This record gives sequence, C-alpha cells and structure tokens, in this order.
Amino acid sequence: MSAVNASTAIGTTATAEAGVAYVGRFAPSPSGALHLGSLTTAAASFLDARHGSGRWLLRIEDLDAPRVIPGAADAIVRSLENLGFSWDGPVTYQSQRLPLYQQALEELGRHGQTYYCSCSRRDRGGSDDAGGYAGTCRQGPTRPGPVATRFRADLNPAPDFTDRLQGLCGPGRAAAGDPILRRRDGLYAYQLAVVVDDAAQQVTDIVRGADLLPSTCWQRSLQLALRLPPQRYAHLPLVCEADGSKLSKSAHAVNGAIAGASALLWRVLSLLRQAPPPELRQAPPPELWSWAIRHWRLESLQGLARLDAN
Ligand SMILES: [Zn+2]
Repeated sequence: MSAVNASTAIGTTATAEAGVAYVGRFAPSPSGALHLGSLTTAAASFLDARHGSGRWLLRIEDLDAPRVIPGAADAIVRSLENLGFSWDGPVTYQSQRLPLYQQALEELGRHGQTYYCSCSRRDRGGSDDAGGYAGTCRQGPTRPGPVATRFRADLNPAPDFTDRLQGLCGPGRAAAGDPILRRRDGLYAYQLAVVVDDAAQQVTDIVRGADLLPSTCWQRSLQLALRLPPQRYAHLPLVCEADGSKLSKSAHAVNGAIAGASALLWRVLSLLRQAPPPELRQAPPPELWSWAIRHWRLESLQGLARLDAN
C-alpha cells in the first residue's frame, strides 16, 4: 500500500489564519431553500464555533449541477444574513474550486488509490454511492464507454473515531465498497470535494446532521490517503416531523425574511435544547445570538435520537 504525499497545493490555499484553534463551517447544497433542518444545522455549527471563539465559514456545495436550483445559493446566503448569521471571509463555491479536486484526484491516481469503473447504476442494484459496490472494476473497467473514478477504500481503512454526540463510530458505509470520486458524467463527487475543501480551509470541527455519519469513514479514509489532518465531528440528531417521520423540506422551508427572524431563531434554539428564556422570544437576532453563543451547550443534544419539529 502506498501512501500519498499530498503536501502540495491542498494545504497551501488555506484561508484560515494560523493559530486559530477552531474553524467550523456550514456547507449547504443549493438544491432547494433553507429549511428547518438545514437551519438547525447551521445554527448548531455557528454556535459551536462562536462559543469557542472560532472562525465560521460558509461554503456552497454546488458541484452537482443538475440538482442546483438557480437562485437557491443566493437565497440561502440572504436568509442567513437576515437571520443574523455572520461568517468569516467570502462565501466559497465548490463550482469555482474544480482544479483543487482535479489535483487531489491525480495525486490519488498516481499512487494507485483510484480506478476506473464502467458500472452503471443498474449494475450496482440501483444504489448510488450509498455503498454496496463489490469492487467489480478494480482490475479495470469491464466494458467500454464512460467511466467513473473510484477510491480504493479497502487500502485506507480509517480507525474508529469518537463523535462528540454519537460516541464511538465504526466504518459506516466504508464497509460497503469503494466510493465514487468523479462520476461518469465528469462531475466531482461530494466525498472528494468535502475532504479537499475542509483541508484547504483548515477546518478543525464539523458539526452536521447525522444523515452524513455513514459517509464519514469514507472521508476519513480519503484524508488518510491524502495525508490530510482529521477533524473533530459532532453529528446532530436529525430534525423530524413530530411523529418521527422524515422532515418535509418543503413544508418546513424557511422564510428567511427579517420580519419573522426572532421567532424562527427562538424556535431553532428550542429545537437545539438550549432553553432560551421566554423573555428573548421577540428579541432582535443579535441579542438572541449573543445569549445563545454565551450559553451554548452541545451536550444538551447527547443521547437524542431525533429532534421533533412542531
Ligand atoms: Zn465498476
């Protein structure tokens, strides 16, 4: 097994200032409006960063062009502004960072960590990169035509890690096969881009929804292969409907207007079990944030299977 020495460009495009102990980020996909689930993630990530006097970055994950809804990125940014979020540095867009992903992919390829895969989604039993790929093309594509690039996850087993909320976490989807890093249509995959960007932006702490937990070991494997530092993780219980079913993103789309900002933030802080005092229910966002940053307790979410919207 060869390790990849990727001390080249990935670490040199850093935007964080040296010596900052905590760098967090919120990384929404502009495939729809901000909704109660993504807003709750944004708030938890923001509060965790600011409570620790850390930096907080905003990154738009707009690589999956067919799923990007025109105007959604701007709407998300505007909503966050109206709700009183503040981030460090300019908003970054993954669609403008393709050379970084290309470079990482080439680095992995040079060290035998990738291979071309000609399997279609149907070959894989209809599953996408949620796993289940048996490594069919590890010795080469099995048919002519367009190919995806896959990562040899088996060569880079990531050790178990301790999540700040979920406790000890095992291999997740990494046990289920080699993830796609570049799709057959040429688009870079989320798994690669997120690892490259978190390293390039010197992110130390990732606070995100537990729906991404199964992918975390793939990302840690990629970090190993690229010799990138690991992050700390806190995977949040997901916001669900009051009956425990999957949150309806359209029913809970966030109206990011300034008018309802206070009530919305108060609701999100309550969802996050921060127990905001009733007298702050109508307080302007800066006042709410100031209270919430001072009193932030991630531990309030420990042991919760889900957060019920109501
Ligand atoms: Zn294949």
